[in-house]
Amino acid sequence: MTTSADLFATAQGLMPGGVNSPVRAFGSVGGVPPFMVSGEGPRLRDADGNTYVDLVCSWGPLLLGHAHPGVLEAVHAAVDRGLSFGASTPAEAQLAELVQQRVPAVERIRMVSTGTEATMTAIRLARGFTGRDLVVKFAGCYHGHEDALLVAAGSGLATLSLPGSAGVPAGTVADTVVLPYNDLSAVEELFAERGERIAAIITEAAPANMGVVEPGEGFNAGLRRITAEHGALLILDEVLTGFRVHPAGYWGLSALDEAGTAAWTPDLFTFGKVIGGGLPTAALGGRADVMEFLAPLGPVYQAGTLSGNPVAMAAGVATLQYADGVVYDTIDGLSRQLQAELRSALDAAGVDHTIQHAGNLFSVAFGTSRTGVHDYAQAQAQEAFRYPPFFHAMLDAGVYLPPSVYEAWFLSAAHDDAAMETVIAALPAAAEAAAAA
Ligand code: PMP
Repeated sequence: MTTSADLFATAQGLMPGGVNSPVRAFGSVGGVPPFMVSGEGPRLRDADGNTYVDLVCSWGPLLLGHAHPGVLEAVHAAVDRGLSFGASTPAEAQLAELVQQRVPAVERIRMVSTGTEATMTAIRLARGFTGRDLVVKFAGCYHGHEDALLVAAGSGLATLSLPGSAGVPAGTVADTVVLPYNDLSAVEELFAERGERIAAIITEAAPANMGVVEPGEGFNAGLRRITAEHGALLILDEVLTGFRVHPAGYWGLSALDEAGTAAWTPDLFTFGKVIGGGLPTAALGGRADVMEFLAPLGPVYQAGTLSGNPVAMAAGVATLQYADGVVYDTIDGLSRQLQAELRSALDAAGVDHTIQHAGNLFSVAFGTSRTGVHDYAQAQAQEAFRYPPFFHAMLDAGVYLPPSVYEAWFLSAAHDDAAMETVIAALPAAAEAAAAA
């Protein structure tokens, strides 16, 4: 049998760090990352024959769990018709309609292949539409690895303690203004000074790349008000939260009332992860007049050989079709249960912490109970050293957590009682390990 250790050694000679995306290398938690060979429902199986209850869910896409039979059937059927046509297909409009039914403010949509492409295009579009250059982002928010947004960016940069990335010219980020998260007066001040030069604010609908940080009461609505007052666009990045925390994403959870009326609406949304159900699809969408600035109707260029790929569309369509109210209620309930169990295990072991949550997304921040975590500075000030021993105790007990304290924990509707029991049984020893760190 080829073990994960063998596979990792081989991979390190072939790929930088042995991985195709940095956090997977276990850099901040140490040890050999298990190489996964299959997934089923709430579980992953590695090359060594171990199974894990998966609380990463491919970093969000697998709302229904691994290898959901209905999604697999739709994908198999699509595969049998051919992998890619480089032309329009019926499934693109099907997915677009499903998105629009859930998020009616998406008057027009463009499918792309990754969340990075979605936010990159949204920024270009906002600049093209407004004729302005400046873009505002918040420290600790991650929007993918496009140059202009790769400053104070959370996610793998937080994990690796990087302020930004080498290879991004100073000129490229000179038009990016970084503000502290949850600080509306900093936004007011900036717009009072330079409002007429600002193309857009981009913000995670609820940040989940510096650990989970809930937007304060009125924060997102305030961003909407300020951008509208100054003729700038608001881009709500729902790559991670979209279709996960509510049928209509974090916007649906926080801005829609029971009658479906929105208290506020961004100009553009970006989606990824769940929209592709585990295959590479993402999208941007929103106001028709803004979206129609994109080529071929408008002057802002954007394209993609595999955009709207028919197999990926089939996975997205099936995932959204199966993601009914029961799915969201199930995940919300599991999340509440796990947060409570985590809190009581950490309390019993005397570990100071806060459980940060936004809808059904949550993460733990150690040593933060005095202040809570409302911004990137507070997230970075936590006792991050308690996470590696906690993580490895969970891994040894068969629970696969995100290998960084700065990432959210993801549940799926496939997490059944047996899976939850495995996780809950593992918590006390992991909490003790965190206490001893
Ligand atoms: N935006 C957010 C909020 C994300 O969480 C991510 C990825 N984790 C991205 C954008 C980038 O998506 P991708 O990795 O598909 O490029």
